[in-house]
Amino acid sequence: MQTYPKAIAGLIDELRKIPGIGPKTAQRLAFHLVVSGKSSIDLLIDSLAEVRDTIGYCSVCGNLTDIDPCAICQDPQRDASVICVVGYPKDVLAIERVGGYKGLYHVLHGYIEPLKGIGPDDIRVKELIARVTGAGQAGRPLETGQTGGTVEQAGHAGQHTKQAGHLAQAGQSAKMGQAQQVSGTGQARLGSQVKEVILATNPDIDGETTALYLARALKPLGVKVTRLARGLPFGADLDYADEVTLARALEGRSEI
Ligand SMILES: [Zn+2]
Repeated sequence: MQTYPKAIAGLIDELRKIPGIGPKTAQRLAFHLVVSGKSSIDLLIDSLAEVRDTIGYCSVCGNLTDIDPCAICQDPQRDASVICVVGYPKDVLAIERVGGYKGLYHVLHGYIEPLKGIGPDDIRVKELIARVTGAGQAGRPLETGQTGGTVEQAGHAGQHTKQAGHLAQAGQSAKMGQAQQVSGTGQARLGSQVKEVILATNPDIDGETTALYLARALKPLGVKVTRLARGLPFGADLDYADEVTLARALEGRSEI
């Protein structure tokens, strides 16, 4: 049986940890990198280091960002009375690609999955409630924070950390440590300006379960709660929906 040099085997092992990368692909990528030359490898190392050192989670919405709060949360042109709730940062990108949405976001970093023991406390539900009620650092922050989001806020304990794992490790850097310390200083607002919460969780079992839970938790707060229109195929990933379908689903959202 052929064995790789230790360094190549280690590289293949690391690449295999990336979602969607199987053993064959990991092997192909590893060999590609090995033969691509020192300068290509150095560029990749620099790029990875930059991501590690500069990217964190927005302390308000939980999206990935290199400034805190993120560009969307800071944008005065965005409508702070509407919050679109999504499962993961990639879903923000999917909706932003559509282009018509001008409100803010809230990234849950996971879904409620009772069978896996993932409950509301394991995703960013209480942060959403706080934004809607105007408690804590809810709504649009009034002053710009420090570069680098708060990994801690999004990186909850439990199974959920599997999604935030890479960033949780990155958060051990000194820079991130500083960002975490200043994260609690966001200014509290008097009351909340949130009028509508759009539940844009995936149209699958976990997404529906989470939407149902959030609707029940949010409606007593006097906020309008809407869900993306049907038309997104059940079981689909929001991220894979084509832009026209997603735009229609957003436009045709209905109150629940
Ligand atoms: Zn944000």
